[in-house]
Amino acid sequence: MTGVLVPLGSDAAAGLRPATREVLTLARDLGEVTALAHTTPTADLLAELGSYGVTRVLTTPLPEPASAAAVAAQAVVSAVTEVSCAVVLFTSSFTTKEIAAHTAHRLGAGLLIDVGGVHLDGGRLVGGKRAFGGTWETVCEVRTEVAVATVTPNAVMARPAPQPTVPELRDLPAEIEVPPRLELLERTVADHSGDTRPSLAEAAIVVSGGRGTFGDFEPVEELADALGAAVGTTRDCVEEGWLPPEAMVGQTGTTVAPRVYIGAGISGAPHHIGGMAGAGTVVAVNIDDEAPLVQLADFAVIGDLSSVLADAVEALREHGG
Ligand SMILES: Cc1cc2nc3c(=O)[nH]c(=O)nc-3n(C[C@H](O)[C@H](O)[C@H](O)COP(=O)(O)OP(=O)(O)OC[C@H]3O[C@@H](n4cnc5c(N)ncnc54)[C@H](O)[C@@H]3O)c2cc1C
Repeated sequence: MTGVLVPLGSDAAAGLRPATREVLTLARDLGEVTALAHTTPTADLLAELGSYGVTRVLTTPLPEPASAAAVAAQAVVSAVTEVSCAVVLFTSSFTTKEIAAHTAHRLGAGLLIDVGGVHLDGGRLVGGKRAFGGTWETVCEVRTEVAVATVTPNAVMARPAPQPTVPELRDLPAEIEVPPRLELLERTVADHSGDTRPSLAEAAIVVSGGRGTFGDFEPVEELADALGAAVGTTRDCVEEGWLPPEAMVGQTGTTVAPRVYIGAGISGAPHHIGGMAGAGTVVAVNIDDEAPLVQLADFAVIGDLSSVLADAVEALREHGG
């Protein structure tokens, strides 16, 4: 088997998300790239896929409940069989990780979750990931004929292909069975139309505030906006009702792997660090130079967060953002 399959999931409708562009960038280095969509791609999307070197786009609609991993995975398995792919690369979200697990189970394939980089070694997929709260760098090799992996956001810089392609568009005849007893009872779609900040899970920069804010997140939000960043927080702040649960970073919240993570007024409990240790560069702002996050950080500023963050915003404005 050869080739790489990249399922586009729901982002085919609105254009490619940055995380998908990153996965396509990695996929290109492994072999010929086929994308899987569930609606017919627009001309703009096809052109964008071509600019990332995708040679083929398979489309197949999904029956309801389309969002169920057990349903979506069957389409991925059909696509793998149709074009004889050796590797399936997903972006990494709660949804895609579940689909990846179902896909690997159905294919009898090895599965790597949240890898930061992938390459082939003797035809086998090898992926690297941080484990145990970022204290270990691990490398895993998949020894099955087909390998499935999810790639953590911001693992690589998205790069268009040196030579754009014109992807072949093909219908995928997939027979998808909705598992018995799987029934969609209710669907609640979160309204992100008013969101002005990137999503926490995929943002390249995250500015988080902890209990040291004493509930005043204005300096945190101002810095986030100056940097085009997402806003995160700790569980304690969510429990205080200062920010909604969707903003929580950590073991029981969202796992983030931004290029830059700024933690202000956050002590750095293991539960929190477990969710952000994959960040490229960590900056801590704290009045306590012995706080664990300060000890872990690449850069630390010891001082009151409201004045440190305000100074940072002013400096960014002075330098044009
Ligand atoms: C089962 C379980 C799961 C958990 N899961 C999570 C999780 O997923 N995510 C998570 O975040 N937590 C989680 N927690 C909670 C976690 O253990 C910590 O309690 C929490 O992360 C601490 O939040 P904090 O850093 O905001 O607060 P604190 O630990 O109180 O730290 C506040 C920090 O602010 C500093 N500070 C105070 N004033 C200022 C100032 N003016 N300027 C700058 N710095 C200042 C202090 O020096 C201190 O370091 C979990 C706990 C349990 C038991």
